Amino acid sequence: MLLFHGKANIRMSILKKYMDAYQYLKIFWLTVIGAVVGSFVNCAASRLAAGQKPFAGRSCCTACGQQLAARDLMPVVSYVLNRGKCRFCASKIPGDCLAAELAGAVAFVCLGQHFGLCWELVQWLVAAALLLALALTDWHGRIIPDKILLLLLINRAIWFALLEIPLPGAQTLTEWLCNSLLSLLVPSILLAIVLLTEIFAERELMGGGDIKLLFVLALYLSWVQLVLLLFIACLLGLLLAVLGLALGQRSLAEPLPFGVDLALAALLTVCYGAPLVNWYLGLF
Ligand SMILES: [Zn+2]
Repeated sequence: MLLFHGKANIRMSILKKYMDAYQYLKIFWLTVIGAVVGSFVNCAASRLAAGQKPFAGRSCCTACGQQLAARDLMPVVSYVLNRGKCRFCASKIPGDCLAAELAGAVAFVCLGQHFGLCWELVQWLVAAALLLALALTDWHGRIIPDKILLLLLINRAIWFALLEIPLPGAQTLTEWLCNSLLSLLVPSILLAIVLLTEIFAERELMGGGDIKLLFVLALYLSWVQLVLLLFIACLLGLLLAVLGLALGQRSLAEPLPFGVDLALAALLTVCYGAPLVNWYLGLF
């Protein structure tokens, strides 16, 4: 009996070691892929915001124009090795390059931990890359390009058609249709409120791109998740504005790019919003 327990314990400890190794490997690869995607997306987004073709030509230093080699393009690692400076002209590498690489890595790891290895994870990894691109173009050029919104739509359509990944909580086609209509109601109501308020305030309160993004996200998320997303985005916007004011970089009067808040709030809602959503639905 003791021998049997001993063997079972050994098997359990071996299994645990395999599980730990699998977990570390998953986090490692998601970090690497996320950082690479973040770097690539930042380069494409800064070109797009500057009115250039996003994928034209190789990466160059923005200060001296020198074409960068592979050793200069390793996400995070190159930045650390070159101490945040260009190897050729010693000018400072913009901090948003590093921020985008880190954001990509963190987003991919959080999604990987939430979904595990499944096709839904792939859908959300592609969506996260597009949301990062959208947040960066909004940050660089205060614009949410329709092309990125269209790609987000196509990504959702592909995974829905191929794998029938429905909205959370919808098992049948009827449930999916009802849930989609309810989700689309959230940005519709918001659009009506914004338009009415803008008529009275006689100035733009929310960009058209932000509303369009919410309509696209309505195809990914349930209506409760969308409400939570809006709440988190407003909270983030407020926190960033206060932080900016404290650092003396922005004033509260200057509108922050809301697309950044919406993209970040979407990922937070997907990865960590479930307990709040379940608590709310449990009230009825
Ligand atoms: Zn340079």
